[in-house]
Amino acid sequence: MAKLEILHFPDPRLRNRALPVAQVDDTVRKLVDDMLETMYDAPGIGLAATQVNVALRVITIDVSDARDEPLVLINPELLATDGDIETEEGCLSVPGVYDNVRRASRIRVRALGRNGEPFEREAEDLLAVCIQHEMDHLEGKLFVDYLSQLKRSRIQKRALKAQRQAS
Ligand code: ZN
Repeated sequence: MAKLEILHFPDPRLRNRALPVAQVDDTVRKLVDDMLETMYDAPGIGLAATQVNVALRVITIDVSDARDEPLVLINPELLATDGDIETEEGCLSVPGVYDNVRRASRIRVRALGRNGEPFEREAEDLLAVCIQHEMDHLEGKLFVDYLSQLKRSRIQKRALKAQRQAS
């Protein structure tokens, strides 16, 4: 396994739309394993392939306290959404920024697992929020897009300044 580099907002590659995985082969499984390692190392509770500059519809998630319940979603589709919940979100691609976002509180999702097996599952609260957040990444969308224009431009200015100082 290898740790992958995570793109940071406002990197334009975070705006790429991911393509469906045609076949879950060894290359995709390696991507999944590398994404899990990168996510656990960061540490984060979710990662989308878009964030590591791979334009494929692949997501890894683990919202468990013990960090031992990896969830892999390949080609995820939302089948149903219900309720709403507002939670403070953060993102490995927008370090240091946390803000409230409103999303569905219960979802039903269909996807393929690490070995290409199709499955459906229901999720609520934190897991539901996390799946929706990561699925947004596959569309080139970031949680800061839900914030006001003013907030977003402040976050962008701060991020660019931090990136200049780091380089
Ligand atoms: Zn994110």
